[in-house]
Amino acid sequence: MSDHADLSDNNIETFITSAIANARRDVLLQSDGHCMFCDEPVAVGRLFCSKECRDDYDKEQRALKIAGK
Ligand SMILES: [Zn+2]
Repeated sequence: MSDHADLSDNNIETFITSAIANARRDVLLQSDGHCMFCDEPVAVGRLFCSKECRDDYDKEQRALKIAGK
C-alpha cells in the first residue's frame, strides 16, 4: 500500500518540478513579437509561431546544453 503512495508522490513531484522549470523558462524568455525559432511575426506575448517551432527550439536548446554551450 505504501509503495503505491510513494510512487504517486514521486510522479507528482516530478510533474511539479518540470512545471516550475517550464514556468521559470517562460519568464526568462521575453517575447519580442517574433518567433524565438524562425523569426516569424507572432501575436504579442507569444514566443513561437507554432508548436513545431517550440519543439524544435527545445530540441536545439537541449542539444546546446549537451554540447556545453
Ligand atoms: Zn516559428
